[in-house]
Amino acid sequence: AATGGPSTARQVKLDKECELRVEVGPDTPLRLRLLTGNAEIFGTEIPPEIWVTFPPRLKFAVFTWYGATIEMDGTTETDYTADETPMISYVNVHAVLEGRRNRAKALPSDSDSSQGPRVIVVGPTDSGKSTLSRMLLSWAAKQGWKPTFVDLDIGQGSITIPGCIAATPIEMPIDSVEGIPLEMPLVYFYGHTTPSVNADLYKVLVKELAQTLERQFAGNAESRAAGMVINTMGWIEGVGYELLLNAIETFNATVVLVLGQEKLCSMLKDVLRNKPNVDVVKLQKSGGVVSRSAKARQKARSYRIREYFYGLANDLSPHSNVANFSDLTVYRIGGGPQAPRSALPIGAEPAADPSRLVPVNINRDLLHLVLAVSFAKEPEQIISSNVAGFIYITDIDIQRKKITYLAPSAGELPSKILIVGTLTWLES
Ligand code: ATP
Repeated sequence: AATGGPSTARQVKLDKECELRVEVGPDTPLRLRLLTGNAEIFGTEIPPEIWVTFPPRLKFAVFTWYGATIEMDGTTETDYTADETPMISYVNVHAVLEGRRNRAKALPSDSDSSQGPRVIVVGPTDSGKSTLSRMLLSWAAKQGWKPTFVDLDIGQGSITIPGCIAATPIEMPIDSVEGIPLEMPLVYFYGHTTPSVNADLYKVLVKELAQTLERQFAGNAESRAAGMVINTMGWIEGVGYELLLNAIETFNATVVLVLGQEKLCSMLKDVLRNKPNVDVVKLQKSGGVVSRSAKARQKARSYRIREYFYGLANDLSPHSNVANFSDLTVYRIGGGPQAPRSALPIGAEPAADPSRLVPVNINRDLLHLVLAVSFAKEPEQIISSNVAGFIYITDIDIQRKKITYLAPSAGELPSKILIVGTLTWLES
């Protein structure tokens, strides 16, 4: 049903409860505007008449509840209209959450029930988890709530660069082009794009993030009542499944939304059956979700890092800075045996301590890696500290003991303590 086409302005009439699914072409942006009726993109309304420009490769749907006419100008990879969507079931979930928020708000803020819904969205890769999270957040924000968005997806997260888990309050419907505002997210650096590298560290960081949010909620009845929406990774087998259960428990999730997988849904219903305050709800995956190959995911990660330094539309100017080796200390978390072999019983293998801090010598191995700048003042605080931002190592001069790196701005880094993982980037 795909109709990629020449670059000409054209109008599309959408009937009620239908959506226009678009993949913007690879090289040029697409302009789009709403001519009549009302329409939204993943929960955020499109303003009438105004042309909105969508960057190359973006994939989105324009959905209308009551009918709309859209005008498009530019080339698309594909664009087609669909009349079968799971949007009604999604908005019904929103209505239930809304009821729970109102109930939470009406109760005294020191009672346990003043906590609004804590929703966790789970499912395989490419089931539309991020998209559903976004809709639920935007619909809630439109009604004046400030729900907290928690993104536990270290591969394709939408708050900050890959390799991190993060949270941020959502105060306005999420912009269809700009995405989540990157103002002051709470970010923990895991440093790898797959959890299997150090699953225990992943759990430790999930716990740190949950505890920090818990402290923030304690003093903020408004955020408590609004609740959270937690997006997760698409890895749902083996260790991935274990990490999902761990996240449900650590965040005290009250609603588990399972997208597009019967088996996962029934497994979760089964293990959570003795928790009456946790609802496990199966939801249909949208036919519009675009599957991405491993290569496409890798590319998306790379764009995400680029966006951090240069901005979505090349509108930021990062700075190349030079520091002495002695100005910075770099740590790796985990890896390496905890106890020497000689200290263990015969035949026992030394276990790697997941949160062991290993000082890293600055050498050319750091080239092209992305490092996090920790808020820690002392090395012992690294694990429990969130990060201020990231730098990208562009040159190491061993002779002069100088390190050249790209940072979002000029001037001194907020801290001398850096964390390195396996996150690489090749600036192109
Ligand atoms: P992952 O597990 O990799 O994070 P996910 O389950 O979170 O994937 P999404 O990121 O929500 O999946 O969706 C995958 C892609 O499909 C995104 O680019 C999204 O914009 C697009 N998409 C989702 N729903 C639709 C739709 N109805 N029409 C067109 N594109 C869509």
